[in-house]
Amino acid sequence: MRIDLHTHSSVSDGTDPPARLVEAAAVAGLDVMALADHDTTDGWAEAMAAGAHLGVEVVPAVEVSTTWRSADVHLLAYWPDPEHAGLRRMLAGIREGRRTRVPRMLERLAEHGVVLSEDDVRRAASDAVSVGRPHIADALVAAGVVGSRDEAFATWIGEGMPGHVSKPAPSLVDALATVVAAGGVCVLAHPWGRGSRHVLDGPTFQELSGAGLSGLEVDHVDHDEDDRAALRRAAAEADLVVTGGSDYHGLGKAGVPLGMFTTDERAYHALQERRGSAPVVEPGR
Ligand code: AMP
Ligand code: ZN
Ligand code: FE
Ligand code: FE
Repeated sequence: MRIDLHTHSSVSDGTDPPARLVEAAAVAGLDVMALADHDTTDGWAEAMAAGAHLGVEVVPAVEVSTTWRSADVHLLAYWPDPEHAGLRRMLAGIREGRRTRVPRMLERLAEHGVVLSEDDVRRAASDAVSVGRPHIADALVAAGVVGSRDEAFATWIGEGMPGHVSKPAPSLVDALATVVAAGGVCVLAHPWGRGSRHVLDGPTFQELSGAGLSGLEVDHVDHDEDDRAALRRAAAEADLVVTGGSDYHGLGKAGVPLGMFTTDERAYHALQERRGSAPVVEPGR
């Protein structure tokens, strides 16, 4: 079984619409594929319908933007109830913060002589319900300011660059509680990626394991061989499931094909077993 637990569609900042993404997964020989758009569940219905048609098991997921010790931490949430009020409220709040960030970033860019309109970003985002920096990057490419998303992040909108504005996000601990209350299973996305490696270590994984975390995404393009070996040990110590995923973004992330990283079948079943162990009490939010 080939299982890729991390992909994005054009509903957030990937470039393939959900149904086409699932077709690509079938072509890539995947048996199971999680659609984990940033902060939205809007692509699920289309992807799951395509999956039923094509014989690909589509796992409904969300990559939730959170904050931990002032750093951006991404939380993969598998199988949460999309109608759960607390989850809906949390995701809607994050998307609203993403929307209001766009004009603030455009102001910063304009101060540095790069003029884009909100319409330029809307055009680049097309049907996305979750707008992000990659869409501003695409608008910068369309305007001829840079040649690629990578260059846009490296020169204008990456952390510490002139056009960067951080987005408001719930705390990781609140997000864990909300996803678990919604019956979802939580896995830390690319824990040692650029944005979060300085705030996540062994003791932290133990602490988070007690706060509702079920797994670590160890096999990911942001981790080198040494990282993966160390993260595997940390996962074992903290009783966390080891997963892998491509973080496929279509044309939005060059050199990262579907199925580039996958999750072991036993690990996948271990995640399934933690499904729906939701506490009855809602977190106080
Ligand atoms: P945002 O969530 O709007 O702050 O944007 C961050 C997202 O941009 C990440 O989740 C990645 O999907 C994407 N991203 C980060 N760095 C790059 C890069 N260098 N090139 C393309 N996409 C990137
Ligand atoms: Zn993304
Ligand atoms: Fe991420
Ligand atoms: Fe991602």
